[in-house]
Amino acid sequence: MPIEEWDHIQTRSESCNGCQKPFADKEDYHTALSLTAEGYRRRDLCAACWSGTEHASAVSYWQGTFQVPLPPKPETLKKEDAESLLRKFIDSKDPGHANARYILAIMLERKRTLKHRDTTEQDGQKILIYEHARTGETFLVPDPRLRLDQLEAVQTEVSALLAPPPALTPVEQALASAEKEANADADSASATEENQPPKDAEQSTPCL
Ligand SMILES: [Zn+2]
Repeated sequence: MPIEEWDHIQTRSESCNGCQKPFADKEDYHTALSLTAEGYRRRDLCAACWSGTEHASAVSYWQGTFQVPLPPKPETLKKEDAESLLRKFIDSKDPGHANARYILAIMLERKRTLKHRDTTEQDGQKILIYEHARTGETFLVPDPRLRLDQLEAVQTEVSALLAPPPALTPVEQALASAEKEANADADSASATEENQPPKDAEQSTPCL
């Protein structure tokens, strides 16, 4: 299975994958990623179940401290932030988002939302392994090896996606609505061409 189709977000288990005992708050856990035909498989183990054998077969390994997950925040007005954008881009599995995913992961690492746990290499592709500081999920982010001159363009592109739309000046507002009307006219014109009964075309013209 190509790397692009792997599951790039994996949740942290709430109990030990060995003895099934739920993790207690502040308990140390050991996470091992091993490579399977379906991609990386994540195992979270308590200290008692963790053994050197597991470590030896893992492509990546780290230790963390379990935190009892906080209840989800009440759904406030959903605004696109770096984290939701990264999740969206990872879910899309669209190779066109590879650069943006990488930049967003770095932004979230700076904000300490994501912890960089390890970097592995698969088929000559560097893969950054992050763990979400609050939820413990694993995020796999392939490194697109951006050149310095590409980096700035991608950063600009990502900032534009995150920035709130700028407030329009009255002149811009007038221009925007004039443009919208022009587009509406064009739309109704093309609708007429598509063998629409003339009655309908008349109705779609805004009444003044
Ligand atoms: Zn255990």
